[in-house]
Amino acid sequence: MYCQTIVLGAGIVGVSTALHLQARGRQVILIDRDTPGSGTSHGNAGLIERSSVIPYAFPRSVGALLRYGLNRQPDVRYSLLHLPKAAPWLLRYWRQSAPSRLAAAAADMLPLVQRCVEEHDALIEAAGLTAVVQAKGWIEVYRDPALFAQAKAEVKGLARYGLRYEILEREQLQAREQRLGNDVIGGIHWLDPKTVSNPGGLTRGYAALFVKRGGQFIQGDARSLRQVDGHWQVDSQRGPISADEVVACLGPQSAELYAPLGYRFPLGIKRGYHMHYATLDDAQLQHSICDTQGGYVLAPMARGVRLTTGIEFAASDAPGNEIQLNRCETLARQLFPALGERLDDTPWLGRRPCMPDMRPVIGPASRHKGLWFNFGHAHHGLTLGPVCGRLLAELVTGEAPFTDPAPYSAARFD
Ligand SMILES: Cc1cc2nc3c(=O)[nH]c(=O)nc-3n(C[C@H](O)[C@H](O)[C@H](O)COP(=O)(O)OP(=O)(O)OC[C@H]3O[C@@H](n4cnc5c(N)ncnc54)[C@H](O)[C@@H]3O)c2cc1C
Repeated sequence: MYCQTIVLGAGIVGVSTALHLQARGRQVILIDRDTPGSGTSHGNAGLIERSSVIPYAFPRSVGALLRYGLNRQPDVRYSLLHLPKAAPWLLRYWRQSAPSRLAAAAADMLPLVQRCVEEHDALIEAAGLTAVVQAKGWIEVYRDPALFAQAKAEVKGLARYGLRYEILEREQLQAREQRLGNDVIGGIHWLDPKTVSNPGGLTRGYAALFVKRGGQFIQGDARSLRQVDGHWQVDSQRGPISADEVVACLGPQSAELYAPLGYRFPLGIKRGYHMHYATLDDAQLQHSICDTQGGYVLAPMARGVRLTTGIEFAASDAPGNEIQLNRCETLARQLFPALGERLDDTPWLGRRPCMPDMRPVIGPASRHKGLWFNFGHAHHGLTLGPVCGRLLAELVTGEAPFTDPAPYSAARFD
């Protein structure tokens, strides 16, 4: 079987990339070892995060480092066994999080973040998925007066980004989200983002649009990728598939592909969990709520209220555990006392694919003609999938890119 372009990986990044290549006339086959949207794109918090204009950085203050060092925080935990292996990556991430470098990363990411909602909107409309997307923004809530005061001051520093938000004092917040607990003292309602009540369903809906428009989805193993007579070839359930070019969008599994080809990208994994809950007395959570101190999000989802945790540093393939989820769940029951029983047998475990300089890798491989990368979208892959799919497709087809792709170049790690 032959096609012009193989896209490897049918997460939100791969599916969006396939759609954008297809829209530019490429004959595309999308390949995944599983069904579309079953990786990290299945279980995230569902925020299309237009307001996240500053990348998620490594904490720099001594107080924060000491606090995290004790390994008892709900938002970040680490496996002691994994720490020596993760240390070089963490050091690199820490260096890149220095104020001037973080400002540069924010400037580089802005063109992508600015377009994230409109790029999703076009696909949501075309795929008939408006029912799974809400335009109510999300609310960041506070329990500590000092932290709330600091957040209000910091928000003013974002004025030049033109973000829409409302600062909610306790009564205003209680009026907007009526079932919150009494220790919540206020919040910031970010109005630009959209939220998705079934992120895996959204990804599958985009994949269905790709197929409806004439694309093919076939199950296969990206690890079989090889070059044969000047073409790229991958084994699939329908036999070998050959193509002129291949775009690798394998998210947290990207290393499985690029390492055998001789690329050494510093891809780090930040693990995170989710669990669904029933609610008591038919209580409804109206908005997605982020408890900044706890580092978790409570989101109204198709299956119930989904709690997604912050970061766990542990080996990517180490078994999951309930330590972080339990810590967050205790806080969540105070934040939203109507949180009922658990609905899943075990917590879902996801892996955020992260580069230490907080920019994804989007562009051509430096040593293999016809090989392209689109991975490393970290905390915001759901947000950035469609806009990064556009950029990659523009580069592959030689169209003028909507933004300078240099900050995302794979060659920066050569
Ligand atoms: C707890 C949590 C909460 C999050 N919340 C948000 C949020 O609110 N908003 C947001 O924007 N982002 C969020 N994220 C991040 C976001 O989910 C990821 O950045 C995004 O899903 C990455 O998408 P992807 O397509 O690169 O990877 P994936 O979705 O993991 O897709 C990679 C695909 O590659 C396939 N694959 C892997 N190996 C092979 C192989 N050998 N052969 C064939 N196929 C293979 C996998 O099956 C998978 O389908 C969150 C992440 C976590 C963990």
